[in-house]
Amino acid sequence: MHDHRRLGRELDLFDTDPLMGAGLPYWLPDGAIVRHVLEEYIREVEREAGYRHVYSPVLGKRELYEISGHWSHYSDDMFPPMELGAEQVVLRPSLCPHHALIYRSRSHSYRELPFRMAELGGMYRSELSGVLGGLTRVRAIQLNDAHIFCTLEQAVEEARAALHLIARAYADLGIRAARHRLSLPGGGDKGKYVADPALWRRATALLREVLDGSGIAYEAAEGEAAFYGPKIDVQIADPAGREATLSTVQIDFHQPERFDLHYIGPDGAKHRPVMVHRSIIGSVERAVAHLIEQHGGAFPAWLAPVQLVILPVSDTQLDQAGNLLRRALGQGLRAELAGPEHGSLGARVRAARLVPYQAVIGEREAEAGGDAAAVRLRDGRRPGTVSGAELLARIAERVAARGTGLWGDE
Ligand SMILES: [Zn+2]
Repeated sequence: MHDHRRLGRELDLFDTDPLMGAGLPYWLPDGAIVRHVLEEYIREVEREAGYRHVYSPVLGKRELYEISGHWSHYSDDMFPPMELGAEQVVLRPSLCPHHALIYRSRSHSYRELPFRMAELGGMYRSELSGVLGGLTRVRAIQLNDAHIFCTLEQAVEEARAALHLIARAYADLGIRAARHRLSLPGGGDKGKYVADPALWRRATALLREVLDGSGIAYEAAEGEAAFYGPKIDVQIADPAGREATLSTVQIDFHQPERFDLHYIGPDGAKHRPVMVHRSIIGSVERAVAHLIEQHGGAFPAWLAPVQLVILPVSDTQLDQAGNLLRRALGQGLRAELAGPEHGSLGARVRAARLVPYQAVIGEREAEAGGDAAAVRLRDGRRPGTVSGAELLARIAERVAARGTGLWGDE
């Protein structure tokens, strides 16, 4: 069974230091590559889907969270405020209030809607130290977040499109959804949820419409909603079967009300937009933790810290190996050369066992015109000897296609 904390240390992906503090992991170079590629992937998918990216600060004045409702419903999970002159500022517990203010800062016509505002941004949660560990329960979170400001008529379609984006990302990343959950408020804890029964009924009905229309099997669960509304949670399971929420989609009538958001309709009058909150991969930390466990460190080729390792059998093939390395790097691949100084060929192959492509260059390959390599794939297959040009083209094609296949014939 794979534990992302153990693998994260063994593979030099991330670690923690008591001086930085519990629940505050840092990313080592190989882990930083995985995170960077994942973040760029998300931005690209979102751009294609019509999202526009913003940046907003990771703190805000206490009043901002009083208006959003976090202060009265969510303060147990928030860091204590910092005194700053006569003001109090707070590390933000979510990005929603900032995005509502960004929307409100400009006037919007119905023609501009839906306005899909996205950000990969930091947020903070004051987890107790007892539950911290690895990347799954952290105090500093990088969230893949977006808010779609739209008309009531557009909300269901926007939420449905968000579910499609989630499904596409899971296919590209090799992630399997354990189940879909419609998360509703619980009866017991009165202070936990915004009290507005009509609002809850309306949002719940729309989310059911989204799920039913998508043909996705789901189960409703009480006590799992956000404080301001119900949500669709996409659950994943770790190797031990423990579930966690990775992706979410919400239809929200509460925040637009609290922030007095509006748009100008075809009638020239002000109308209230709906806010669809959605996250494709949730927090980057939890997504990478899951990817590590799901793939046992053998990331899909497009995400792998090193995609190609070039293995000259002896010093005689070093020039040819160096030439292939330069071309691979020039094409944007993450490639390394491991020469005979790193040990026997067998030892070098074992050391590179998580690298999706290994190009062995021996006497025979050097003879074949000076641009051949015997290819080994991480999964044990040996597609044979190909030219360097063919190998690089094949890898580039698999990387661009994403998904988990290595040679295109899976
Ligand atoms: Zn939100």
